[in-house]
Amino acid sequence: MSEETIFSKIIRGDIPSDKVYEDDKVLAFNDISPMAKVHVLFIHKTTTKHVNQMVQEHPQQLVDIYQAIAKYTQESGLDKSGFRVVTNMNKDAGQTVFHTHMHVLGGERLGTFGS
Ligand code: 5GP
Repeated sequence: MSEETIFSKIIRGDIPSDKVYEDDKVLAFNDISPMAKVHVLFIHKTTTKHVNQMVQEHPQQLVDIYQAIAKYTQESGLDKSGFRVVTNMNKDAGQTVFHTHMHVLGGERLGTFGS
């Protein structure tokens, strides 16, 4: 069982978020501290700690999230200009919230990434 995180509170509506997409399984909202002009976090409403747990225990959730990303980027036109999906896994990647999430970044020309 995964621990309670800030994202569980956002799903329940206990703390506010700037939602940009929602369906019965997935929620997406603007990152509170954006790293690009568009910086949206996609989360599944069922909690896992990180992407490895999601893919090993609930692989359909990964499909649910990527389907939501496809819908959002097509409806917003972000697919035309382009975007990046990032998932941080554990401390070297800088994961701070242990509820699996995908960062969708775009709205401008993105820099290179790595160390
Ligand atoms: P991580 O570093 O775990 O990959 O990403 C966590 C992300 O959650 C960070 O980009 C951080 O800015 C964002 N974040 C943390 N707390 C909140 C919050 O309360 N609301 C929103 N919208 N984003 C948050």
